[in-house]
Amino acid sequence: MAAIRAAQLGFKVACIDSFERGGKPALGGTCLNVGCIPSKAMLDSSEKYEMILHEAADHGIQVQGASIDLNKMLARKDSVVEKMSGGVTFLFKKNKVASLHGLGKLERQEGDTWIVSVAGTEVAAKNVIVATGSSPRSLPGVQFSERIVENSGALTLPEVPQKLGVIGAGVIGVELGSVWRRLGASVTVLEALPGFLMAADAAISKAALREFQKQGLDFHFGVQIGAIQDTGSSVKVTYTENGQDVQAEFDRLIVAVGRVPHTAGLGAEAVGLQLDERGFVKVDGHFRTNLKGVYAIGDVIGGAMLAHKAEDEGVALAEQLAGKAGHVNYDAVPWVIYTSPEIAWAGLTEQEATKRGLKVKTGQFPFTANGRATGHGDTRGFVKVVADADTDRILGVHMLGGGVSELIAEAVSVMEFGGSAEDLARTVHAHPTLSEAVKEAAMAVDKRAIHA
Ligand code: NAD
Repeated sequence: MAAIRAAQLGFKVACIDSFERGGKPALGGTCLNVGCIPSKAMLDSSEKYEMILHEAADHGIQVQGASIDLNKMLARKDSVVEKMSGGVTFLFKKNKVASLHGLGKLERQEGDTWIVSVAGTEVAAKNVIVATGSSPRSLPGVQFSERIVENSGALTLPEVPQKLGVIGAGVIGVELGSVWRRLGASVTVLEALPGFLMAADAAISKAALREFQKQGLDFHFGVQIGAIQDTGSSVKVTYTENGQDVQAEFDRLIVAVGRVPHTAGLGAEAVGLQLDERGFVKVDGHFRTNLKGVYAIGDVIGGAMLAHKAEDEGVALAEQLAGKAGHVNYDAVPWVIYTSPEIAWAGLTEQEATKRGLKVKTGQFPFTANGRATGHGDTRGFVKVVADADTDRILGVHMLGGGVSELIAEAVSVMEFGGSAEDLARTVHAHPTLSEAVKEAAMAVDKRAIHA
């Protein structure tokens, strides 16, 4: 995004990227190649399978003998990635962004120009943007292998494991745990924290946990992981739960315990690029590092590790470099977890707002009272609006339900304009749509929801 926007604004741009897929250069980074895009393809395929198995009959559709062709499912996922990656190649050509394959290393500064080496050649640039992302964090002494996998390995398992272990009940844990459970694995999730999705609004995480447990995901909270051993035919995990030592054995283990900034090979130390104590590149409010002409954005500077946060930082920075007023509103960055039901939110949770000393009022509306959701046959979840009790300004919107990944955009727009619950409540929403639940939740802030 930074490269394309900078090129649109008249900069001469080269984008250096070392990512390879199947031994060939592949544009799009982690999100497109081994993250957001392929995981959503697998979530969609596995959800369709689950729909055929468990929901089609309710719609009067009889399907006999449904089965999975995992190779085909994986190949479809790969073709989705291929298409999207080709799209980036096309956009680079269209915008005249030069694409250079290899690891980029900051070599030295000559006057006000930086020299960056890539694949044996040197490139000179006035401005350098470091957007090197993040890599999966492992646990001490644990090597990723065919059986102990991180996000990319978890998207290419060659068969559906009978017993799948997942360490970390975060975003990757629940998304990929859901994929393999739907395809037939028995899934155990081991989480260090005492509760589920503690960053989400408590009402949402409580209801979501209930849904996921109903589906058969076996969660264990407050565990302490001990030894992990890949035996070649299984993975043995020792952990402590409620003071008891437990031994578990899985066919495969997904380790999804967060990500760490990726700066290997960048030459940060040699040129004196400042990193913080956790290895993130230090920047100021305008993405400037301590080195003149070197900027950084995305996962490598910390904050929410979300592709859309990084994209908007890239656009904002390109605009700032062009003398425009690029800006990212971190208070209105949406979070989405693509499980079934989906989870989406933006802004403050009720708990966080209260902790900050704000007086809040909230409104909640369940999908059971929404006509479209009833027609879909999926009435799980609800929408919750958190507003300032004095000004009515929306502080946060929280959703659990089918399709809420799309509904959250409306809430973000209203928040971006500093809108109130009443603004949302007085906006006409098409009937029958799921979006009416957002309007009714906003109406419920003033206790005037119509349908509940
Ligand atoms: P995460 O931060 O979402 O979750 C990691 C979980 O692992 C946490 O709940 C943490 O408490 C737990 N954990 C940490 N150490 C542990 C240990 N030793 N034992 C047991 N549990 C432990 O990280 P993730 O799921 O690995 O995802 C990585 C990043 O990628 C996140 O920042 C996430 O936001 C991003 N991501 C986003 C999406 C999305 O937006 N839908 C999808 C995938 C990944």
